[in-house]
Amino acid sequence: MSTISLRGILKSAIKDWVHRESPRIRPSTLGGCIRKNYFSIVENTIVETEELQMVVGSGSNSEVSDIVDGYLATGKLFELFLTPHFQRQGFLHQCLIIIDPSSNLYGHSDFYKYDEESKTGYIVDIKTTSYHHFDFLPNEAHVAQVQLYMHGALYGEIWRTGENGEPVERLPNPEKCVGGLLYIARENAALTSEKQEHWFPYNPRLVEEILQNKAKLSEAIAKGEPPPIPPHYTPYSFPCLFITVGESVICPYWDRCWLSSVSDIGEETLKNITEMVKRFVRYKEAEREWEEYRKVFIECTSATPQVRVTTPLGVVEKTTQVRSRENAKRMVNLLIEEGKLSPEEAWDYYERSKSNYEAVVVKVYPNWTAFQQEEEGREENGNE
Ligand code: SF4
Repeated sequence: MSTISLRGILKSAIKDWVHRESPRIRPSTLGGCIRKNYFSIVENTIVETEELQMVVGSGSNSEVSDIVDGYLATGKLFELFLTPHFQRQGFLHQCLIIIDPSSNLYGHSDFYKYDEESKTGYIVDIKTTSYHHFDFLPNEAHVAQVQLYMHGALYGEIWRTGENGEPVERLPNPEKCVGGLLYIARENAALTSEKQEHWFPYNPRLVEEILQNKAKLSEAIAKGEPPPIPPHYTPYSFPCLFITVGESVICPYWDRCWLSSVSDIGEETLKNITEMVKRFVRYKEAEREWEEYRKVFIECTSATPQVRVTTPLGVVEKTTQVRSRENAKRMVNLLIEEGKLSPEEAWDYYERSKSNYEAVVVKVYPNWTAFQQEEEGREENGNE
């Protein structure tokens, strides 16, 4: 038996990468709660974005620490996996962006490309998430991070970096910037969807707001006093406590912010509320799932005119009026040919009746129902 611990190598690789920097104000978390940023910086604990919390769930810092580190490392692996492919498209990897030189606010964009002709800078960040969260993207904190990078590229400094992340060449400031986010499903990177790619322009108002938050955070750190709870936050809503994919997620600092104000609610009530919200979320998920199944079902049965199947999620039904629509179409053409209906009139009815040929025919040919019955009789007798 070898004395080398392979798991040990993996663990230390993860720790080495995740804990190589001391706590500081980071563009990646500034879009979230500044009070949470304060606690995590001052106490040197895990800074989690709400998105990461959604994946990791709740728990004390020590309980979730390893899991968070693992997720962060997985994100890094995807970034490295994609690097040669982005480079082939002219992107630089890990440019250093000094957002605000006077306040030591900086970060590294995953990928950056400068288009000389349009003087436009493209800043792209890669994020990993659960496939189940594709509907909730893009995450506000991620957009805020890329907005800050765009601000830095436009008005601060942007540097190409060397192998160890050291700045080696200052790049020209672009005149315009476009931000991009690419989300990758952790469960399976090949699960693709249009919901995983987001492009957006530079938004100076949003950046100003984030920079104001940053100033408040710096001030609070200097004074050693946590910033107040943002006025629109409540104890049972995002980002303090929320439910996702059937799991409740609680901010690690929830007790400090809310415990005294909700202690009179009682543990039982709190449990019931959480349970109720969980069930509501499951119900909504089942509804979404049902819609997905329905779409797949209709695709699979595209050649079958009418099908009805009872599934655990409910009755899935596909009905078509193809035959009567086809007949109606033929009838409209016939009426036009015989001069009983002008093409303009037909079009007018067609538009007003929301593309329903049958409505056109009924309007101009009162004997339509009899004609239909006759047609159906002919089909049954095999005369069609
Ligand atoms: S509980 Fe809410 S207000 Fe308090 S730190 Fe967490 S997110 Fe911010």
